[in-house]
Amino acid sequence: MAMLIKNACEILTMKDGIGVVKDASILIENSRIKTVGKVKTDKKKLETINAKNCVVCPGFVDSHTHLVYGGSREDEFAMRVSGVDYEKIARAGGGIANTVKMTRKATKQELYNQGKQRINNIIKHGTTTVEIKSGYGLSTPEELKMLRVINKLKKDSVLDIIPTYLVHTVPYQMKRRDYIDLVREEMIPEIAKKKLAVFCDIFCDKIAFTKKESKKVLLKAKEFNFKLKIHADEFANVGGARLAAQLNCTSADHLLYTTKSAIKAMKKSGVIPTLLPGTSFFLQIKKKPYIKAYKSTECPVAIASDFNPGSCMIYSMPKIISLACIVYGMCVEDAIIGATKYGAKALDLFDKIGSIEKGKQADLVILCVDNYKKIPYYFGEDIVKYTIKKGRIIYGKNR
Ligand SMILES: [Zn+2]
Repeated sequence: MAMLIKNACEILTMKDGIGVVKDASILIENSRIKTVGKVKTDKKKLETINAKNCVVCPGFVDSHTHLVYGGSREDEFAMRVSGVDYEKIARAGGGIANTVKMTRKATKQELYNQGKQRINNIIKHGTTTVEIKSGYGLSTPEELKMLRVINKLKKDSVLDIIPTYLVHTVPYQMKRRDYIDLVREEMIPEIAKKKLAVFCDIFCDKIAFTKKESKKVLLKAKEFNFKLKIHADEFANVGGARLAAQLNCTSADHLLYTTKSAIKAMKKSGVIPTLLPGTSFFLQIKKKPYIKAYKSTECPVAIASDFNPGSCMIYSMPKIISLACIVYGMCVEDAIIGATKYGAKALDLFDKIGSIEKGKQADLVILCVDNYKKIPYYFGEDIVKYTIKKGRIIYGKNR
């Protein structure tokens, strides 16, 4: 089956920057992009979408989420906004520990059903590829449970889902040394044997694992052929970004305290820095990433949602693009490129997705705006008209 998307005001190809092609069409054949620009076709069986007054963009790639979890934390949210500080909430059993408790309590079927609902929601906001982390299990059977749910969603969903094993925090009443040993000697080999995750990720920060502990875990994961990610420098500069550069991680994420020299190091070793503006906004964190240094070093930047029940309940990538501009001061072009091309690179999938060019998988989003600057500008509006995955409409409204 072939598809023609015609009369688009702008097609954002991601070639040499954002790569705008005006007044153009896209021909899709066998789930791949065949032609971009002026399309001539004599195909009889052709599904046609009129993209008049619309912008066509690569499907959004959300490269950092914690989309599978049990329960919800609105009580903590209410406490936090009325001025109770996070440490006090954590001491009262809140924070990650709370989600761990509720995730352990949930059955696989419950986690699956909720996960599926959330995936249906992100499709409506134009996401076509999503990474999902474990990390609320904190024991071998519970982490395996989470990863099995993520893999079942991956199998059943029309989206591309990338599973990540996240070493999130030390479980209650366990010594950190013992937990690191458990992760290295039991969890990593077991998850590798069952092929349940593509990436291994660790929370390297002053409130989580040290640089030394993170290195030990990631090196073990590397031995078992995991690709690597790291939650780095969110609450303090503990050298997480430098470690990412040293170990050639695919991405390093958060990076609020990362310095210019660490940014240079990441660029040199090909790490994709991934910024999460939704979290900064949702938690009202004042510290901002060093955007000017990314610009001056010409270091590419991905942006992602970090969707999770504690620190960011935003799963809409158009909103995340807006927040990258409003909260972090990224320019419009960089924010859109970060949510598509560099999101794909942060998952090591740019050979397949993340741009609109001949041969790429036809993952596209058609937006009801007539130029790309309106994408972040229309902050309060749902601008997604169609979401297209592998050349098939998976979401669409007639308006
Ligand atoms: Zn995260």
